[in-house]
Amino acid sequence: MKRRFFGGIHPSYRKELSVKATPSVAVIPKQVVIPMLQHIGVPCVPLVKVGDKVLRGQKIGDGDGLCVPVHASVSGTVIAVEPRPHPLGKLVTAVVIENDFQDTTVRPSESCGNAEDMDPDTVLGLIREAGIVGMGGAAFPGNVKALSAVGKADTLIANACECEPYITSDDTLLRTNPEQVLRGMQILSRVLQPKRAILAVEDNKQEAIAKVNGLLSEYTGIELSVLPTRYPQGAEKQLIQALTGRDVLPGQLPVSAHCAVFNVSTFAAIYRAVELGVPVTSRIVTVSGEAIREPQNFIVRIGTSFHDLIEVAGGLNDSTERVISGGPMMGIAQSDLSVPVVKATNSVLCLLKDRNGAAENPVCLRCGKCVSVCPMRLQPLYLYRFEKAGNAGELERLHVMDCIECGSCAFTCPGKLPLVERIRSGKQLLKEAKSK
Ligand code: SF4
Ligand code: SF4
Repeated sequence: MKRRFFGGIHPSYRKELSVKATPSVAVIPKQVVIPMLQHIGVPCVPLVKVGDKVLRGQKIGDGDGLCVPVHASVSGTVIAVEPRPHPLGKLVTAVVIENDFQDTTVRPSESCGNAEDMDPDTVLGLIREAGIVGMGGAAFPGNVKALSAVGKADTLIANACECEPYITSDDTLLRTNPEQVLRGMQILSRVLQPKRAILAVEDNKQEAIAKVNGLLSEYTGIELSVLPTRYPQGAEKQLIQALTGRDVLPGQLPVSAHCAVFNVSTFAAIYRAVELGVPVTSRIVTVSGEAIREPQNFIVRIGTSFHDLIEVAGGLNDSTERVISGGPMMGIAQSDLSVPVVKATNSVLCLLKDRNGAAENPVCLRCGKCVSVCPMRLQPLYLYRFEKAGNAGELERLHVMDCIECGSCAFTCPGKLPLVERIRSGKQLLKEAKSK
């Protein structure tokens, strides 16, 4: 039975701007900047120094604890190891490599091969060594997430909802390389042994759906679930609710609802790591928005600057107002286009001035629309009000920390209240109050 998650909205999707038959290969940049932090957790320690020669795929940073390695995405010479701007808006230590344009590549890992012949620890080890993180934007280390679901998840979910407007990188992957995704699902299914393995896609990706449907008979044990398009269906908790009817309780992880959710790009990376022995050195990135001259998808080397990528896409329109890493609803606005594409960068979005932007005198009309669309069943108007009043106790009582910052409330608010900004600062207020 098809269910749907609570709340949600229908923004203008604008995906037609960037959908092309095949992604063009981006111009390989003269220089790449590889940040030592591209995952949630502890930053890598650089393993190379200025003057070192490196090969494509060579490990150039690694560390202990919640950490996965990073690899050179081109062959060449290390010209700097220093703090550089990062799409998260801070300075992060990075290895800067001058490209020799030879693309000399390291030999694939010796333990790679047919996953059917491997034990689960070997598979998880290969996933770690390839530097795989959640490539839908979450950037959580893939091996740690998979290990935490062993023996607990009865449902493995491949997330191809890509519900944010404009972004078509997962759609492009499914249209061009669906086999990699399906094989990645089979590989992880061998580790997790779920009862069901579901590839979830929204019904606005008909070509991808047809491609996957045509292959399913060759990949036993995998189901395709086509969901009605609705934002934010790609958020883990909402997707689990839509597919299984199960709720992930506040503060809990998907595994508490016996589910493990990975983005489809992550599954493709798992296939390449385990069976080909290839680490993450590139990914598909959507470059789109009304402010870019030639919107499309590119296969981009990790470490390519947003500036270089934008140039390959024809450059920015003169009236560009914002460049965002990610989508318009949950992405991060960038002030410095020297920031590099990292493993979790699915989109570089270039937008014109929003004619329906913030009102000069925002006012709450008490219409209740924000409450009806909030997928976390929160009361955004009260979160707004109590943040303004500096009332941490009420913010906690109203579960401000459960907000996934999806922006559905602000999108739908006729009073144009800056709800998400206020809720974000409400979270900070509560954290500070608790730390006293
Ligand atoms: S949608 Fe906006 S105007 Fe309506 S109740 Fe919520 S905050 Fe107030
Ligand atoms: S309160 Fe948070 S979770 Fe709810 S709609 Fe607004 S941004 Fe989304």
